[in-house]
Amino acid sequence: MATNLQIDENTLRDVVEEVLRGLGRSAPNRSGGPPARSADRPAAAPAAPAFGHQGRRFGVFADANEACTAAHEAFLQLKEKGVAARAKVVDIVKEMVTAKAVEWGRLEFEETRIGRLEHKIEKLQIVRLVPGVEWLKPYGLSGDHGITLEENTPFGVVGAITPVTHSVPTLSGNIINIVAAGNAVIFNPHPGGARCAVTAVRAYNEAIHAALGIENLVCVIEKPTLESFDALAKNELVRLLCVTGGPGVVQAAMRSGKRAICAGPGNPPVLVDGTGCVQKAARDIIQGGAYDNNLLCIGEKQVFVLEAVAEKFIEGLQAAGAVKLSAAQLEKLTAAAFTVSKDAGGCSHAVLNRALIGRDAAVLAREAGTTVPADTPMLFAETVLEHPFVMEEQMMPMLPVVRVKSVEQGVEYALRSEHGYKHSAIIHSLNVDHMTQMARALDTTLFVKNGPSTTGLGLGGEGYLSYSIATTTGEGITNPRTFTRTRRCVMVDNLRIY
Ligand code: NAD
Repeated sequence: MATNLQIDENTLRDVVEEVLRGLGRSAPNRSGGPPARSADRPAAAPAAPAFGHQGRRFGVFADANEACTAAHEAFLQLKEKGVAARAKVVDIVKEMVTAKAVEWGRLEFEETRIGRLEHKIEKLQIVRLVPGVEWLKPYGLSGDHGITLEENTPFGVVGAITPVTHSVPTLSGNIINIVAAGNAVIFNPHPGGARCAVTAVRAYNEAIHAALGIENLVCVIEKPTLESFDALAKNELVRLLCVTGGPGVVQAAMRSGKRAICAGPGNPPVLVDGTGCVQKAARDIIQGGAYDNNLLCIGEKQVFVLEAVAEKFIEGLQAAGAVKLSAAQLEKLTAAAFTVSKDAGGCSHAVLNRALIGRDAAVLAREAGTTVPADTPMLFAETVLEHPFVMEEQMMPMLPVVRVKSVEQGVEYALRSEHGYKHSAIIHSLNVDHMTQMARALDTTLFVKNGPSTTGLGLGGEGYLSYSIATTTGEGITNPRTFTRTRRCVMVDNLRIY
């Protein structure tokens, strides 16, 4: 009996591609043109993972090398479909992350147990502020010798590492930047935030496949380990690494021999010189520093305040809802928040107790032997430069405040506490000389004047958002251009129209 079977062109092509992949050959492109150049394909690519509707991975892989092969196939498909397809992926991610912000924010909060639920949700809602394909403007030259165009072109497959502090926000923002630039991406997320990352990747892939017929453009390692990161870094199909995390992973990426964009650690200091409104400075510092329980790498981590205005500033912190710890309470909390370890040279240094990272101020207060209202945004205490809460990137809503005698001393202390990460710094001042002095001394990637740290990422300040600030390797606030190779196209003595 004859069957009235209707198969659309995309489905048919997927089937043909699957069969040809098995035979090691390329399918013609959608317009019936020649297949993608074999030079773009891996020399001896292992067989693609078993696809077919039921066997679809939707970007989720156990094996890093298998993910690399699948992501490379997706990269080639994206290349054929052009910039419109990249723009479509950006739209899909922005729409989906906005629509799923509450669900995914809750999921991430329940998995990681750090930060504040409302901020987990908000961090997803603002992903739409990450720039897309419009960021890729070619640079053109025209002269007596003809025309030259410098284009921003993709690398291919990017291997990305995300932190536990913002798993799905970093992943989503990275996808927008990386795919807008024409690449595919594989994530090796922090194991503590891997389940929510897998959920988001699966959903993004389903939507991308439905809209464009491309599978595995965005991949994730389901159970990420240091070994899976190592496999990604070693795989020849991965052309670039994008690492967002602390000193350990940044060092590992830089040692890998692969080009790496490293968004490394920070310990942002704040200087309050009293030339402006100290109450506003206090409010701004609490707004930025308390955000998601101080998990932001740009968040205010320690304050240096001029002696003459210190009392007024402390009143300002209290008026903004922060609660002051006594010296004894600070000592108790410090004993819970840090342990002392000796390095190979016998020098002692403080090691952060990760169990207290991103916990509520009320939890920290209990560790300090006191109680505060559940909605307290932040604790603070007066201390000295050498204190672990000043010198370590504590990622807790406990702000150490250090009095300084002069702006010079404040800048020097800020510099010492930032450790040369060149990440972020903040000043509250109306004195341009002080601003310039601090900017030059600290040499940070972000330098915010008279606002909360979050204004540095386009949230109430001019600019655009990214969750990966490439401090260590110097690319700055990452955007689609960061993930491109510049290639020059030259036409000699021709094409110029004048
Ligand atoms: P982390 O360094 O503990 O972990 C980050 C990722 O690296 C995780 O996926 C982890 O599993 C992996 N990792 C750690 N050591 C590794 C190694 N030796 N080899 C391979 N992989 C390794 O960081 P975290 O606690 O998840 O995040 C907080 C840190 O990230 C802070 O230092 C913060 O400043 C930084 N951060 C920086 C930015 C930025 O844009 N510059 C943004 C967010 C967070």
